[in-house]
Amino acid sequence: VMLRAASLCVLLACLVLGVPVAKEKQKVLLISFDGFRWDYDRDVDTPNLDQMAKDGVKAQYVTPPYLTVTSPTHFTLLTGRYIENHGVIHNMWFNTATSEKKGYYQTQFVNEWWDNGTLPIWITAQRQGLKAGSLHFPGTASSYQGEFATVREVEPNFYNYSNETSWYENTDKVMSWFRDQDLDFVSLYFGEPDVTGHKYGPDSPERREMVKQVDRAVGYIRNSAEKHGLTKQLNIIMTADHGMTTIFRGPDVEEIVLSKIPGFSFSDVSFQLLDYGPSGMLLPKPGKLETIYTALKGAHPNLHVYKKEEMPEHLHFSNNDRILPIVLWTDPGFVLNGYLPVQFNKGEHGFDNQEMDMKPFFRAVGPAFHQNLEVGPFETVNIYPLMCHILGIQPEVNDGQLSVTQHMLVTSKQTTQPEGETRNFWKNGFIGLAAVAGFLIIVFTVLTTRKIIKSKRQNKKSDSSPEEEKSKQTSL
Ligand SMILES: [Zn+2]
Repeated sequence: VMLRAASLCVLLACLVLGVPVAKEKQKVLLISFDGFRWDYDRDVDTPNLDQMAKDGVKAQYVTPPYLTVTSPTHFTLLTGRYIENHGVIHNMWFNTATSEKKGYYQTQFVNEWWDNGTLPIWITAQRQGLKAGSLHFPGTASSYQGEFATVREVEPNFYNYSNETSWYENTDKVMSWFRDQDLDFVSLYFGEPDVTGHKYGPDSPERREMVKQVDRAVGYIRNSAEKHGLTKQLNIIMTADHGMTTIFRGPDVEEIVLSKIPGFSFSDVSFQLLDYGPSGMLLPKPGKLETIYTALKGAHPNLHVYKKEEMPEHLHFSNNDRILPIVLWTDPGFVLNGYLPVQFNKGEHGFDNQEMDMKPFFRAVGPAFHQNLEVGPFETVNIYPLMCHILGIQPEVNDGQLSVTQHMLVTSKQTTQPEGETRNFWKNGFIGLAAVAGFLIIVFTVLTTRKIIKSKRQNKKSDSSPEEEKSKQTSL
Protein backbone atom coordinates (compact mmCIF):
# COMPACT_ATOMS: atom_id res chain seq x y z
CA VAL A 1 0.00 0.00 0.00
CA MET A 2 2.67 2.50 0.98
CA LEU A 3 4.71 1.72 -2.15
CA ARG A 4 1.72 2.38 -4.39
CA ALA A 5 0.87 5.52 -2.48
CA ALA A 6 4.44 6.75 -2.78
CA SER A 7 4.58 6.17 -6.53
CA LEU A 8 1.28 7.98 -6.94
CA CYS A 9 2.69 10.85 -4.92
CA VAL A 10 5.74 11.08 -7.23
CA LEU A 11 3.48 11.03 -10.28
CA LEU A 12 1.27 13.74 -8.80
CA ALA A 13 4.28 15.87 -7.88
CA CYS A 14 5.60 15.62 -11.45
CA LEU A 15 2.25 16.66 -12.86
CA VAL A 16 2.05 19.67 -10.58
CA LEU A 17 5.67 20.75 -11.05
CA GLY A 18 5.71 20.23 -14.79
CA VAL A 19 8.85 19.24 -16.68
CA PRO A 20 11.17 21.06 -17.21
CA VAL A 21 10.79 23.26 -14.16
CA ALA A 22 13.21 26.13 -14.80
CA LYS A 23 15.02 27.57 -17.85
CA GLU A 24 18.79 27.16 -18.11
CA LYS A 25 20.85 29.74 -16.22
CA GLN A 26 22.37 32.19 -18.69
CA LYS A 27 26.13 32.47 -19.07
CA VAL A 28 28.16 35.06 -20.99
CA LEU A 29 31.48 34.73 -22.79
CA LEU A 30 32.91 38.09 -23.86
CA ILE A 31 35.57 37.71 -26.53
CA SER A 32 37.83 40.43 -27.87
CA PHE A 33 39.83 40.02 -31.04
CA ASP A 34 42.17 42.98 -30.66
CA GLY A 35 41.97 45.45 -33.52
CA PHE A 36 39.30 43.58 -35.53
CA ARG A 37 37.91 46.42 -37.62
CA TRP A 38 34.19 46.36 -38.43
CA ASP A 39 34.73 45.70 -42.15
CA TYR A 40 37.46 43.03 -41.98
CA ASP A 41 34.98 40.38 -43.12
CA ARG A 42 34.38 42.20 -46.41
CA ASP A 43 37.48 41.20 -48.35
CA VAL A 44 38.01 37.75 -46.83
CA ASP A 45 35.94 34.56 -46.89
CA THR A 46 34.64 34.22 -43.34
CA PRO A 47 32.21 31.27 -43.31
CA ASN A 48 32.21 30.97 -39.52
CA LEU A 49 31.61 34.65 -38.87
CA ASP A 50 28.85 34.55 -41.49
CA GLN A 51 27.27 31.53 -39.80
CA MET A 52 27.47 33.28 -36.45
CA ALA A 53 25.60 36.25 -37.94
CA LYS A 54 22.90 33.88 -39.24
CA ASP A 55 22.58 32.19 -35.87
CA GLY A 56 22.71 35.41 -33.90
CA VAL A 57 23.10 39.17 -34.06
CA LYS A 58 25.49 41.23 -36.13
CA ALA A 59 25.96 44.97 -35.67
CA GLN A 60 26.97 47.07 -38.65
CA TYR A 61 29.82 48.33 -36.45
CA VAL A 62 30.36 49.61 -32.92
CA THR A 63 31.94 52.84 -31.70
CA PRO A 64 34.72 52.53 -29.12
CA PRO A 65 35.47 55.26 -26.61
CA TYR A 66 38.32 57.69 -27.16
CA LEU A 67 41.30 57.11 -26.66
CA THR A 68 41.04 54.23 -29.14
CA VAL A 69 43.85 52.13 -27.64
CA THR A 70 43.80 48.69 -26.07
CA SER A 71 43.69 48.91 -22.28
CA PRO A 72 41.37 51.94 -21.99
CA THR A 73 38.81 50.60 -24.49
CA HIS A 74 38.87 47.10 -22.99
CA PHE A 75 38.20 48.58 -19.56
CA THR A 76 35.18 50.30 -21.09
CA LEU A 77 33.89 46.89 -22.23
CA LEU A 78 34.28 45.62 -18.67
CA THR A 79 32.75 48.66 -16.95
CA GLY A 80 30.42 50.41 -19.40
CA ARG A 81 32.12 53.71 -18.64
CA TYR A 82 33.83 56.25 -20.87
CA ILE A 83 37.58 56.42 -20.36
CA GLU A 84 37.48 59.75 -18.49
CA ASN A 85 35.10 58.08 -16.02
CA HIS A 86 36.89 54.76 -15.45
CA GLY A 87 40.34 56.34 -15.29
CA VAL A 88 42.41 53.84 -17.29
CA ILE A 89 43.24 56.69 -19.67
CA HIS A 90 46.22 55.14 -21.50
CA ASN A 91 47.99 51.87 -22.21
CA MET A 92 50.94 53.30 -20.33
CA TRP A 93 51.16 54.04 -16.65
CA PHE A 94 53.13 57.22 -16.00
CA ASN A 95 54.21 59.46 -13.17
CA THR A 96 54.58 63.12 -14.11
CA ALA A 97 56.63 63.89 -10.98
CA THR A 98 59.35 61.34 -11.66
CA SER A 99 58.83 61.09 -15.47
CA GLU A 100 58.58 57.29 -15.10
CA LYS A 101 56.61 55.38 -17.73
CA LYS A 102 55.69 51.76 -18.09
CA GLY A 103 54.77 49.99 -21.31
CA TYR A 104 51.55 48.15 -22.09
CA TYR A 105 52.52 44.83 -20.52
CA GLN A 106 54.16 46.19 -17.35
CA THR A 107 51.17 48.51 -16.82
CA GLN A 108 48.92 45.43 -16.51
CA PHE A 109 50.56 44.85 -13.12
CA VAL A 110 50.26 48.41 -11.79
CA ASN A 111 47.31 47.77 -9.53
CA GLU A 112 46.43 51.39 -8.72
CA TRP A 113 46.32 52.25 -12.43
CA TRP A 114 43.36 49.87 -12.88
CA ASP A 115 41.82 49.87 -9.42
CA ASN A 116 40.82 53.51 -9.19
CA GLY A 117 37.15 53.48 -8.32
CA THR A 118 35.33 51.61 -11.08
CA LEU A 119 34.59 47.90 -10.71
CA PRO A 120 34.87 45.60 -13.73
CA ILE A 121 32.02 43.16 -14.33
CA TRP A 122 33.95 40.20 -12.83
CA ILE A 123 33.87 41.74 -9.37
CA THR A 124 30.27 42.94 -9.61
CA ALA A 125 29.15 39.47 -10.74
CA GLN A 126 31.06 37.78 -7.92
CA ARG A 127 29.62 40.12 -5.31
CA GLN A 128 26.15 39.12 -6.50
CA GLY A 129 26.81 35.41 -6.16
CA LEU A 130 28.06 34.55 -9.66
CA LYS A 131 31.41 33.11 -10.69
CA ALA A 132 33.66 35.03 -13.07
CA GLY A 133 36.85 34.32 -14.93
CA SER A 134 39.21 35.94 -17.41
CA LEU A 135 41.89 34.78 -19.79
CA HIS A 136 44.44 37.33 -21.06
CA PHE A 137 41.83 40.12 -21.10
CA PRO A 138 43.41 43.51 -20.31
CA GLY A 139 42.85 44.30 -16.64
CA THR A 140 42.98 40.66 -15.52
CA ALA A 141 46.28 41.00 -13.66
CA SER A 142 44.94 43.68 -11.31
CA SER A 143 42.79 43.35 -8.22
CA TYR A 144 39.83 45.64 -7.57
CA GLN A 145 39.10 46.70 -4.00
CA GLY A 146 41.10 43.63 -3.02
CA GLU A 147 39.27 41.16 -5.29
CA PHE A 148 40.39 39.35 -8.44
CA ALA A 149 38.39 37.51 -11.05
CA THR A 150 38.15 34.10 -9.31
CA VAL A 151 39.56 32.08 -12.19
CA ARG A 152 42.11 33.94 -14.25
CA GLU A 153 45.11 33.59 -16.43
CA VAL A 154 47.51 36.39 -17.30
CA GLU A 155 49.72 35.91 -20.34
CA PRO A 156 53.50 35.80 -19.80
CA ASN A 157 55.66 38.65 -21.07
CA PHE A 158 56.55 38.43 -24.79
CA TYR A 159 53.60 36.10 -25.32
CA ASN A 160 53.07 35.02 -28.92
CA TYR A 161 49.57 36.37 -29.59
CA SER A 162 49.41 34.81 -33.06
CA ASN A 163 49.81 31.10 -32.28
CA GLU A 164 46.69 29.35 -33.56
CA THR A 165 47.25 26.22 -31.46
CA SER A 166 47.33 28.36 -28.31
CA TRP A 167 44.06 29.97 -29.37
CA TYR A 168 42.39 26.55 -29.46
CA GLU A 169 43.92 25.52 -26.14
CA ASN A 170 42.77 28.75 -24.52
CA THR A 171 39.29 28.27 -25.97
CA ASP A 172 38.97 24.74 -24.56
CA LYS A 173 40.30 25.96 -21.22
CA VAL A 174 37.63 28.65 -20.99
CA MET A 175 34.87 26.22 -22.01
CA SER A 176 35.97 23.81 -19.29
CA TRP A 177 35.83 26.66 -16.78
CA PHE A 178 32.19 27.16 -17.76
CA ARG A 179 31.39 23.45 -17.62
CA ASP A 180 33.53 22.09 -14.78
CA GLN A 181 33.68 25.12 -12.51
CA ASP A 182 30.25 26.46 -13.45
CA LEU A 183 31.50 29.96 -14.20
CA ASP A 184 28.82 32.45 -15.27
CA PHE A 185 30.99 35.04 -16.99
CA VAL A 186 34.37 34.83 -18.70
CA SER A 187 36.27 37.41 -20.72
CA LEU A 188 38.64 36.00 -23.31
CA TYR A 189 41.24 37.99 -25.23
CA PHE A 190 43.07 37.32 -28.49
CA GLY A 191 45.89 39.71 -29.47
CA GLU A 192 45.17 39.45 -33.19
CA PRO A 193 44.54 40.81 -35.80
CA ASP A 194 46.03 43.88 -34.07
CA VAL A 195 49.67 42.74 -34.21
CA THR A 196 49.43 41.91 -37.91
CA GLY A 197 47.47 45.09 -38.65
CA HIS A 198 50.21 47.22 -37.08
CA LYS A 199 53.06 45.42 -38.78
CA TYR A 200 51.70 45.01 -42.31
CA GLY A 201 48.80 47.46 -42.41
CA PRO A 202 45.04 46.78 -42.57
CA ASP A 203 45.04 46.46 -46.37
CA SER A 204 47.78 43.82 -46.50
CA PRO A 205 47.42 40.17 -47.53
CA GLU A 206 48.93 39.30 -44.13
CA ARG A 207 45.99 40.96 -42.38
CA ARG A 208 43.56 39.07 -44.59
CA GLU A 209 45.29 35.79 -43.72
CA MET A 210 45.02 36.63 -40.04
CA VAL A 211 41.29 37.32 -40.43
CA LYS A 212 40.98 33.81 -41.88
CA GLN A 213 42.70 32.53 -38.76
CA VAL A 214 40.24 34.51 -36.61
CA ASP A 215 37.39 33.01 -38.61
CA ARG A 216 38.69 29.48 -38.03
CA ALA A 217 38.90 30.31 -34.33
CA VAL A 218 35.28 31.50 -34.36
CA GLY A 219 34.27 28.12 -35.75
CA TYR A 220 36.42 26.35 -33.18
CA ILE A 221 34.97 28.42 -30.32
CA ARG A 222 31.39 27.58 -31.27
CA ASN A 223 32.26 23.90 -31.72
CA SER A 224 34.00 23.79 -28.38
CA ALA A 225 30.96 25.33 -26.67
CA GLU A 226 28.80 22.60 -28.21
CA LYS A 227 31.22 19.82 -27.25
CA HIS A 228 31.20 21.08 -23.68
CA GLY A 229 27.40 20.95 -23.64
CA LEU A 230 27.02 24.71 -23.25
CA THR A 231 24.85 25.74 -26.20
CA LYS A 232 21.64 26.08 -24.18
CA GLN A 233 23.27 28.35 -21.63
CA LEU A 234 26.15 30.16 -23.23
CA ASN A 235 25.86 33.55 -24.92
CA ILE A 236 28.96 34.50 -26.89
CA ILE A 237 29.60 38.19 -27.48
CA MET A 238 32.44 38.93 -29.87
CA THR A 239 33.87 42.38 -30.45
CA ALA A 240 37.11 44.35 -30.39
CA ASP A 241 38.71 47.33 -28.73
CA HIS A 242 39.34 49.51 -31.81
CA GLY A 243 40.02 49.30 -35.54
CA MET A 244 43.11 50.06 -37.60
CA THR A 245 44.09 52.49 -40.35
CA THR A 246 46.93 52.70 -42.86
CA ILE A 247 49.71 55.16 -42.10
CA PHE A 248 50.91 57.31 -45.02
CA ARG A 249 54.58 56.76 -45.80
CA GLY A 250 56.96 58.19 -48.34
CA PRO A 251 58.83 61.35 -49.30
CA ASP A 252 55.62 63.27 -50.08
CA VAL A 253 54.23 62.85 -46.58
CA GLU A 254 54.76 65.80 -44.26
CA GLU A 255 55.49 64.02 -40.97
CA ILE A 256 54.31 65.59 -37.74
CA VAL A 257 57.38 66.15 -35.57
CA LEU A 258 56.82 68.49 -32.63
CA SER A 259 60.47 69.55 -32.26
CA LYS A 260 60.36 70.98 -35.79
CA ILE A 261 57.36 73.22 -35.09
CA PRO A 262 58.38 76.92 -34.80
CA GLY A 263 57.79 78.40 -31.35
CA PHE A 264 57.56 75.00 -29.70
CA SER A 265 60.33 73.89 -27.35
CA PHE A 266 60.64 70.78 -25.23
CA SER A 267 62.26 73.02 -22.60
CA ASP A 268 58.72 74.31 -21.88
CA VAL A 269 57.47 70.77 -21.31
CA SER A 270 57.56 69.17 -17.89
CA PHE A 271 56.31 65.72 -18.98
CA GLN A 272 55.25 64.22 -22.32
CA LEU A 273 53.55 61.12 -23.68
CA LEU A 274 54.43 61.09 -27.38
CA ASP A 275 55.65 58.69 -30.06
CA TYR A 276 52.70 56.43 -29.32
CA GLY A 277 50.74 56.35 -32.54
CA PRO A 278 48.48 59.29 -33.34
CA SER A 279 47.88 60.57 -29.80
CA GLY A 280 49.87 62.50 -27.25
CA MET A 281 49.62 64.48 -24.04
CA LEU A 282 51.78 67.24 -22.63
CA LEU A 283 52.26 68.68 -19.15
CA PRO A 284 53.66 72.20 -19.62
CA LYS A 285 56.09 73.69 -17.13
CA PRO A 286 54.47 76.32 -14.87
CA GLY A 287 53.32 79.32 -16.92
CA LYS A 288 54.08 77.67 -20.26
CA LEU A 289 50.66 76.30 -21.21
CA GLU A 290 49.68 79.21 -23.48
CA THR A 291 53.10 79.26 -25.15
CA ILE A 292 52.90 75.59 -26.03
CA TYR A 293 49.25 75.73 -27.01
CA THR A 294 49.72 78.75 -29.29
CA ALA A 295 52.77 77.22 -30.96
CA LEU A 296 51.12 73.88 -31.70
CA LYS A 297 47.57 74.92 -32.57
CA GLY A 298 47.29 75.07 -36.35
CA ALA A 299 50.96 74.15 -36.85
CA HIS A 300 50.13 71.18 -39.08
CA PRO A 301 46.89 70.67 -41.06
CA ASN A 302 46.53 67.12 -39.71
CA LEU A 303 47.37 67.87 -36.07
CA HIS A 304 44.64 68.54 -33.50
CA VAL A 305 45.63 70.44 -30.38
CA TYR A 306 43.28 70.92 -27.45
CA LYS A 307 43.43 72.16 -23.91
CA LYS A 308 42.05 69.41 -21.73
CA GLU A 309 39.00 71.42 -20.67
CA GLU A 310 38.16 72.36 -24.27
CA MET A 311 38.13 68.82 -25.64
CA PRO A 312 35.30 67.98 -28.07
CA GLU A 313 32.32 66.62 -26.17
CA HIS A 314 31.98 63.38 -28.14
CA LEU A 315 35.43 62.18 -27.09
CA HIS A 316 34.55 62.13 -23.36
CA PHE A 317 38.24 62.58 -22.67
CA SER A 318 38.62 65.54 -20.37
CA ASN A 319 37.17 65.03 -16.91
CA ASN A 320 39.94 63.09 -15.20
CA ASP A 321 42.98 64.19 -13.21
CA ARG A 322 45.17 61.74 -15.09
CA ILE A 323 44.54 63.47 -18.42
CA LEU A 324 47.31 66.04 -18.99
CA PRO A 325 46.56 69.74 -19.73
CA ILE A 326 47.28 69.52 -23.48
CA VAL A 327 45.87 66.70 -25.59
CA LEU A 328 47.07 66.08 -29.16
CA TRP A 329 45.97 63.76 -31.91
CA THR A 330 46.39 63.41 -35.64
CA ASP A 331 44.17 62.68 -38.61
CA PRO A 332 44.13 59.12 -39.97
CA GLY A 333 47.30 58.39 -41.92
CA PHE A 334 49.53 60.43 -39.61
CA VAL A 335 51.32 59.69 -36.37
CA LEU A 336 52.63 62.06 -33.73
CA ASN A 337 56.39 62.25 -33.22
CA GLY A 338 58.36 64.13 -30.55
CA TYR A 339 61.97 64.77 -31.52
CA LEU A 340 62.30 62.57 -34.60
CA PRO A 341 60.11 60.28 -36.70
CA VAL A 342 60.57 57.04 -34.76
CA GLN A 343 57.42 55.12 -35.65
CA PHE A 344 57.39 52.70 -38.53
CA ASN A 345 54.16 50.71 -38.15
CA LYS A 346 52.14 50.43 -41.34
CA GLY A 347 48.89 50.40 -39.40
CA GLU A 348 47.82 52.42 -36.35
CA HIS A 349 44.87 53.15 -34.07
CA GLY A 350 44.28 55.74 -31.36
CA PHE A 351 42.49 58.22 -33.63
CA ASP A 352 39.18 60.02 -33.12
CA ASN A 353 36.50 57.40 -32.44
CA GLN A 354 34.29 59.01 -35.13
CA GLU A 355 36.71 57.78 -37.81
CA MET A 356 35.24 54.72 -39.53
CA ASP A 357 38.60 52.95 -39.48
CA MET A 358 38.53 52.99 -35.67
CA LYS A 359 35.24 51.07 -35.41
CA PRO A 360 35.33 47.44 -34.25
CA PHE A 361 33.05 44.57 -35.28
CA PHE A 362 30.30 43.09 -33.12
CA ARG A 363 28.65 39.66 -33.12
CA ALA A 364 26.53 37.88 -30.53
CA VAL A 365 25.04 34.41 -30.46
CA GLY A 366 23.28 32.32 -27.84
CA PRO A 367 19.93 31.55 -26.25
CA ALA A 368 19.40 35.17 -25.17
CA PHE A 369 19.87 36.58 -28.67
CA HIS A 370 17.70 36.83 -31.75
CA GLN A 371 18.77 34.86 -34.80
CA ASN A 372 19.70 36.35 -38.13
CA LEU A 373 19.33 39.92 -36.91
CA GLU A 374 21.46 42.79 -38.20
CA VAL A 375 21.36 45.92 -36.09
CA GLY A 376 22.67 49.44 -36.51
CA PRO A 377 25.79 50.81 -34.85
CA PHE A 378 26.04 51.58 -31.15
CA GLU A 379 28.69 52.65 -28.66
CA THR A 380 30.63 49.93 -26.85
CA VAL A 381 29.71 51.46 -23.45
CA ASN A 382 26.33 49.76 -24.01
CA ILE A 383 27.74 46.22 -24.03
CA TYR A 384 28.22 46.24 -20.26
CA PRO A 385 24.56 46.80 -19.27
CA LEU A 386 23.57 44.17 -21.87
CA MET A 387 25.86 41.58 -20.27
CA CYS A 388 24.64 42.47 -16.76
CA HIS A 389 21.06 42.05 -17.93
CA ILE A 390 21.68 38.60 -19.44
CA LEU A 391 23.50 37.51 -16.27
CA GLY A 392 20.71 38.91 -14.10
CA ILE A 393 22.99 41.14 -12.05
CA GLN A 394 22.58 44.73 -10.95
CA PRO A 395 25.06 46.88 -12.93
CA GLU A 396 27.31 49.48 -11.33
CA VAL A 397 26.92 53.12 -12.33
CA ASN A 398 27.86 53.26 -16.03
CA ASP A 399 27.58 55.32 -19.20
CA GLY A 400 25.68 52.74 -21.23
CA GLN A 401 21.98 52.04 -21.61
CA LEU A 402 20.24 48.70 -21.88
CA SER A 403 17.60 50.24 -24.14
CA VAL A 404 20.24 50.67 -26.87
CA THR A 405 20.91 46.91 -27.17
CA GLN A 406 17.81 45.28 -25.68
CA HIS A 407 16.19 44.74 -29.09
CA MET A 408 18.88 42.13 -29.79
CA LEU A 409 17.44 39.92 -27.08
CA VAL A 410 14.75 37.29 -27.68
CA THR A 411 12.60 38.73 -24.91
CA SER A 412 13.56 40.38 -21.70
CA LYS A 413 11.63 37.82 -19.66
CA GLN A 414 12.01 34.40 -21.27
CA THR A 415 15.73 33.92 -21.05
CA THR A 416 17.19 36.81 -19.19
CA GLN A 417 15.70 36.97 -15.73
CA PRO A 418 17.19 34.16 -13.69
CA GLU A 419 15.89 35.78 -10.50
CA GLY A 420 12.32 35.51 -11.76
CA GLU A 421 12.93 31.94 -12.86
CA THR A 422 14.32 31.11 -9.46
CA ARG A 423 11.20 32.52 -7.87
CA ASN A 424 9.00 30.48 -10.23
CA PHE A 425 10.99 27.37 -9.43
CA TRP A 426 10.33 27.80 -5.71
CA LYS A 427 6.70 28.72 -6.31
CA ASN A 428 6.19 25.60 -8.42
CA GLY A 429 8.15 23.55 -5.93
CA PHE A 430 6.01 24.79 -3.07
CA ILE A 431 2.76 23.94 -4.87
CA GLY A 432 4.13 20.49 -5.65
CA LEU A 433 5.23 19.84 -2.10
CA ALA A 434 1.89 21.04 -0.75
CA ALA A 435 0.07 18.69 -3.11
CA VAL A 436 2.26 15.76 -2.07
CA ALA A 437 1.76 16.56 1.62
CA GLY A 438 -2.02 16.83 1.14
CA PHE A 439 -2.07 13.55 -0.73
CA LEU A 440 -0.05 11.83 2.00
CA ILE A 441 -2.45 13.14 4.66
CA ILE A 442 -5.40 11.68 2.71
CA VAL A 443 -3.60 8.35 2.31
CA PHE A 444 -2.71 8.30 5.99
CA THR A 445 -6.26 9.20 7.05
CA VAL A 446 -7.86 6.59 4.81
CA LEU A 447 -5.46 3.87 5.91
CA THR A 448 -5.83 4.73 9.58
CA THR A 449 -9.64 4.85 9.31
CA ARG A 450 -9.71 1.52 7.53
CA LYS A 451 -7.41 0.02 10.12
CA ILE A 452 -9.68 1.23 12.92
CA ILE A 453 -12.80 -0.06 11.14
CA LYS A 454 -11.06 -3.35 10.40
CA SER A 455 -9.93 -3.85 13.99
CA LYS A 456 -13.45 -3.02 15.16
CA ARG A 457 -14.85 -5.59 12.69
CA GLN A 458 -12.26 -8.14 13.76
CA ASN A 459 -13.38 -7.56 17.31
CA LYS A 460 -16.95 -8.22 16.22
CA LYS A 461 -16.42 -11.26 13.96
CA SER A 462 -13.03 -12.95 14.08
CA ASP A 463 -13.68 -15.27 11.06
CA SER A 464 -13.09 -12.79 8.16
CA SER A 465 -11.10 -14.50 5.39
CA PRO A 466 -7.60 -13.28 4.31
CA GLU A 467 -8.92 -13.04 0.72
CA GLU A 468 -11.47 -10.50 1.80
CA GLU A 469 -8.86 -8.46 3.60
CA LYS A 470 -6.62 -8.44 0.55
CA SER A 471 -9.38 -7.22 -1.76
CA LYS A 472 -10.33 -4.50 0.66
CA GLN A 473 -6.84 -3.23 0.90
CA THR A 474 -6.15 -3.24 -2.80
CA SER A 475 -9.33 -1.34 -3.54
CA LEU A 476 -7.73 1.79 -2.17
ZN1 LIG B 1 44.15 46.85 -29.17
